[in-house]
Amino acid sequence: MQEFDPQVLNEPPIPPPEEFSKRAHVRSMEEYEEMRAHAERDPEGFWGEQAKMLHWFEPPKKILEWDMPHAKWFVGGKLNVSDNCLDRHLEENGNKPALLWEAEDGATLQLTYTELQECVCKFANVLSGLGVKAGDSVTIYMPMIPELPIAMLACARIGAVHSVIFGGFSAIAIADRIADSKSKILITADGGYRRGKVIPLKEMADAALLNCPTVEKSIVVRRTNGKVDWKEGRDLWWHELVEKASKECPAVAFDSEQPLFILYTSGTTGKPKGVMHTSAGYLLQCQWSTRLVFDLRDDDIYWCTADIGWVTGHSYMVYGPLANGASIVMYEGAPDFPRRDRFWEIVARYKVTIFYSSATAVRAFMAWGNEWIDKHDISSLRLLGTVGEPINPAAWKWYSQVIGKGRCPIVDTWWQTETGSILISPLPGATPTKPGCATRPLPGVAARVVTMQGETVKPGETGYLIIERPWPSMLRTIYGDDERYRRDYWSRIPGVYFTGDAAQCDKDNYIWVLGRVDDVIKVAGHRLSSMEIESALVSHPAVAEAAVVAKPDEIRGEAIVAFVTLRSGQNPSRELRAALGEHIAMTIGTIARPSEVRFADLLPKTRSGKIMRRLLREVAQKGGVSGDTTTLEDLSVIEKLAHTRGHDEE
Ligand code: ATP
Ligand code: MG
Repeated sequence: MQEFDPQVLNEPPIPPPEEFSKRAHVRSMEEYEEMRAHAERDPEGFWGEQAKMLHWFEPPKKILEWDMPHAKWFVGGKLNVSDNCLDRHLEENGNKPALLWEAEDGATLQLTYTELQECVCKFANVLSGLGVKAGDSVTIYMPMIPELPIAMLACARIGAVHSVIFGGFSAIAIADRIADSKSKILITADGGYRRGKVIPLKEMADAALLNCPTVEKSIVVRRTNGKVDWKEGRDLWWHELVEKASKECPAVAFDSEQPLFILYTSGTTGKPKGVMHTSAGYLLQCQWSTRLVFDLRDDDIYWCTADIGWVTGHSYMVYGPLANGASIVMYEGAPDFPRRDRFWEIVARYKVTIFYSSATAVRAFMAWGNEWIDKHDISSLRLLGTVGEPINPAAWKWYSQVIGKGRCPIVDTWWQTETGSILISPLPGATPTKPGCATRPLPGVAARVVTMQGETVKPGETGYLIIERPWPSMLRTIYGDDERYRRDYWSRIPGVYFTGDAAQCDKDNYIWVLGRVDDVIKVAGHRLSSMEIESALVSHPAVAEAAVVAKPDEIRGEAIVAFVTLRSGQNPSRELRAALGEHIAMTIGTIARPSEVRFADLLPKTRSGKIMRRLLREVAQKGGVSGDTTTLEDLSVIEKLAHTRGHDEE
């Protein structure tokens, strides 16, 4: 028996819309294969060629120095990341909008490239004035306001290393990350808005700073005008500092490998790691992939809905699009505020053409119902993207039909904080898509699905997703822990990059990412992916979301426990529980029938919206949770889950 054969594998691939292909940067699979073949023959030559799209003060002398697991890309080259994102666009596009910002309360702000560059220069001077030097780390804990990308670009301009902490984190999480990165400066705001309420950011930051002896200055943006505690000598208002700063700040040339930022992973599998990225390779692959994957053109209005606190926000809200000189929409608040149509209202208002969001968000939109979308004219959209988790085929099809009106290609982009940029994705004008599949590696990316011995698996067999050779935007290390970097990524299967994701490759060489290696379940000798079973559950009309984990079982090795949340209007019942078991048996086989189906109001998620199966595993196995929960969005969810039951009781 084959291990995994989702029905979707048998559906014919969906070709890109002809109209789209005609105008795309890459127009056919032949063109894609040609690029790919070139890159395979001569990877360094290929990346050296692409690197010409950056603005260099001094071109690189050598493309790659690879001393496994340490890579140096574009050796000897000198550039400035903020110059690449701003200054080089000024001559031709100074008046083009760079940032189209919308506050949660509806207020708006627009910054042209010239204006954004000026803001960045001023703040870079502020940082220098406070003694920040190249290589120093600066922690940024801010809401989604223009000052956030400004602060990041200002750090880049002077060679400081930013560490952005998502604005939803609490004092303990902030203190942990500041202690790890040893920042001398913290940039925050008096507060931020979320669903109309004020999130007291400064209060949280102040609590964290009680345990952060390295921080000397805290710069505070006035956003809500609420009352805040003030520590003289440490706290400084952003607006007062900027007012006095000069707008002249020539971009200094830095080495290609100048550290650019540290970013902590979302902690879905364990304690977050400080992923370190450097300048030229990261920026190049962000610029290049934004252009190719989102088929970016000069007149696009581009909106990536990710929070800048996550890597998607770093690479595809800030660095990738700005390096391309794009016009970017940035929204401060929640997607359901004041109503569940906020995103579609924004799409209509700004005439957004490219929309990039997470798989979780797509599932939420789907559960909320089509009426929220139908009210708005979203015909400006021409391309849709998704990231973060495998997207189940039902959600993919809904996205394509209801948001994309059958016209917009979907790019299902696979990548990680560690990879820095998208590595596996359709090229929208070229690649025929399959719902739920990230399709093929981008040219230059050597992705394969292998056994633990490093042998390629057969089509339809589950294996480990690996990347065979270094790529420009790869992480350089785990901050302060070279050993962990080597062990976690380059030693599991010696000599190749271990992604930690399970995957399959089908007969067309398409890669299906199934989820994390730890989430693969073994029942009676068969390996099942949690994603496959979840997908089947979500295809039942009563189900909004599902997460499936294993628990030890004496007879079958592992038994399947399903946690299910229902769509609005549906109620848990014994009949429904039985029906869901039956539904899985019908779609996948009796082998996949869960031994428990637990109905829950909410599933435990990271603040980036990913389901934390490791916590569910603990609930299923031990009835409670003792693992790291610092990245969990809402602790009370676990409490409630522990009380759910998996069987019918009399
Ligand atoms: P941690 O490493 O701390 O557990 P994390 O892996 O959730 O956190 P990220 O780097 O944000 O943090 O997420 C990358 C992971 O997200 C990938 O390894 C993969 O499991 C999943 N992922 C991202 N995009 C896709 C996609 N398009 N299809 C399938 N899975 C995806
Ligand atoms: Mg990860």
